[in-house]
Amino acid sequence: MFVGHYSVAFAAAAHPKAPRLGTLFVAAQLMDLGFFTFVLTGTEHMRLTPGMTAMNNMDLYDMPLTHSLVGAGGLALVFGLIVARWLRSVIAGAIGGAVVLSHWLLDLLVHGPDLTIMGSPPKLGLGLWNHPAIEMPLEIGLLFVSAWLFARARRPANWRLAVLLAVLIALQAFNWFAPQPTQLDASQSVLGLVAYVLAALVAWWVAKDRSDVQVA
Ligand SMILES: [Zn+2]
Repeated sequence: MFVGHYSVAFAAAAHPKAPRLGTLFVAAQLMDLGFFTFVLTGTEHMRLTPGMTAMNNMDLYDMPLTHSLVGAGGLALVFGLIVARWLRSVIAGAIGGAVVLSHWLLDLLVHGPDLTIMGSPPKLGLGLWNHPAIEMPLEIGLLFVSAWLFARARRPANWRLAVLLAVLIALQAFNWFAPQPTQLDASQSVLGLVAYVLAALVAWWVAKDRSDVQVA
């Protein structure tokens, strides 16, 4: 799941008290931002196992901090507290924290068994990545329905939203259709981090000229 995570950010941003869209884009991928950073620092690990799932060969065998339910809950709590304080709104903080935590639930749907509750087995994952005919339309469908909900509630400039959706679809297409890496190096993690930062920046820009953007 890649752009599907952003559907939660879009849907949450429709709430009148929500943080702005760019903040929620960071929230939706905070667990993966943490994971790829930790891969680069050697704190968490992945390896390539061809055929890991039908859709990708990333074997995410060691991510006890970022992708355990307890770890995700901790990230959600810290992020929610920062947002609540920054925007002086408990509701905005709660929405931000909930979007962080939603990542774990969506990962649970698509990942092979690599998620945990507290870092040790049992390993959880319902494996929708083995069913691309379901996973791909689901992910794109969630994205467009939620973007529509966001647009209806918050009325961003249509062309800016179109640019954001085009960027997201392009990143997703690369993720799906570029050849799977055969060798693991820092490039996969760096590429992931760049994609998440780019998406958040464009999302930030979509809401930039809005009159009802949250201010502290
Ligand atoms: Zn993840």
